[in-house]
Amino acid sequence: MDRTTLAQELCRELEKMVIIDAHEHLPSEQDRLASEVDALTMFSHYCKGDLAAAGMKADTLEFVFSKAPLEQRWAAFKPYYQQICNSTYARAAHIAIERFYGEERLCDANLLTLSERIKANNTSGLYKRVLREACGIETCLTQGADHPCDEGLMTPVHWTINNPRSYADIQAQAKSLKMPIETLDDLLKAAAELVRRIKQDYKGVGFKFFVFPMQRPDRVRAEAAFRNIRDNPDQRLPLQNALSDIFFDAIFAALKQHALVGCIHTGYWGDFRDLHPAFALYMLDNYPEVNFDLYHVGYPYVREAIMMGKTRRNVWLNMCWTYLISPGFAAEALAEILEMVPANKIIGFGGDYFVVEKVYGHLVIARKVIANVLAGKVADKDLTFDGAVAIARKMLYDNPKALYSL
Ligand SMILES: [Zn+2]
Repeated sequence: MDRTTLAQELCRELEKMVIIDAHEHLPSEQDRLASEVDALTMFSHYCKGDLAAAGMKADTLEFVFSKAPLEQRWAAFKPYYQQICNSTYARAAHIAIERFYGEERLCDANLLTLSERIKANNTSGLYKRVLREACGIETCLTQGADHPCDEGLMTPVHWTINNPRSYADIQAQAKSLKMPIETLDDLLKAAAELVRRIKQDYKGVGFKFFVFPMQRPDRVRAEAAFRNIRDNPDQRLPLQNALSDIFFDAIFAALKQHALVGCIHTGYWGDFRDLHPAFALYMLDNYPEVNFDLYHVGYPYVREAIMMGKTRRNVWLNMCWTYLISPGFAAEALAEILEMVPANKIIGFGGDYFVVEKVYGHLVIARKVIANVLAGKVADKDLTFDGAVAIARKMLYDNPKALYSL
């Protein structure tokens, strides 16, 4: 069999597989059904980043996704749409609108009909139709879901932006937990309570946070940092700080106690230099009984992320978002991961979306990349066909199920 035929055959095998989607941001179906949707909804979320990069100004961007009349918003969107069509973010949207709404592209002629079809499909059962029936997904590990919902379609992974660097961060944490945080000990109690609630109240399976350059916790320095921000509410601690160190020390102790996974966002976002995957080394090495799921293969610091999967027992490499960032990078990364990292350590797919239909778009791209990479290994006789299928099944189902005890 030539490589192209092998890839097609492997893709067909992948299409039959039940999948655990290892990272989503989906709102509950109830919230999605309550929201206004139209053709432009399909180009929200990541496409917004491309529109901004293409030159769309912030106020125009806000207008395009506002409640203003659709035709006016389309007129503002259209010139930039032409510029972003080559990017994978738009491609995932196009795959989704073709599969669910029968149009390959958005244009003057189909703006209204496409919007009508999207509205008509915005009914109870939408998530089941998209995720279960079209994607074959058993459950989505969903950041922000407060409780398991939609017939088990969503499994919560809690997210904290509250790496405590200012008094406002701490008070936001206090408010969300409804616990006073006036002292360092209160903050550490809050960390333990947060993780307890994720496990026991929300039935969550993981705790997500942004990587940061953690160092050994130091109680004296942490006390001083706490006092500093309490007495100077405008003060924001630097990225590397004693308060974050001690807060996350308490978080990791609680993750160990409750057997929850530490989900680490690495790379791509904002000032991505602050999110270098190698910052996770301290955590991996000093909390050996916590399992960590390293998101996005650290893009653009890919090799550093792969090295951690290669050399550390307690880290998994999660391909979530990667195929959408760039199928080319994802293919190269996956090929290299397969040559370096044990097959039980690869988490194969996470749609990483707010808009449910686009999970399908991402999955189609992901399957193609995975099939192509595995086909290359089979063609080179590094893997048998059945061996390749078995690896794909581990990536897409067995590994996330085992890591998150689903
Ligand atoms: Zn995400």
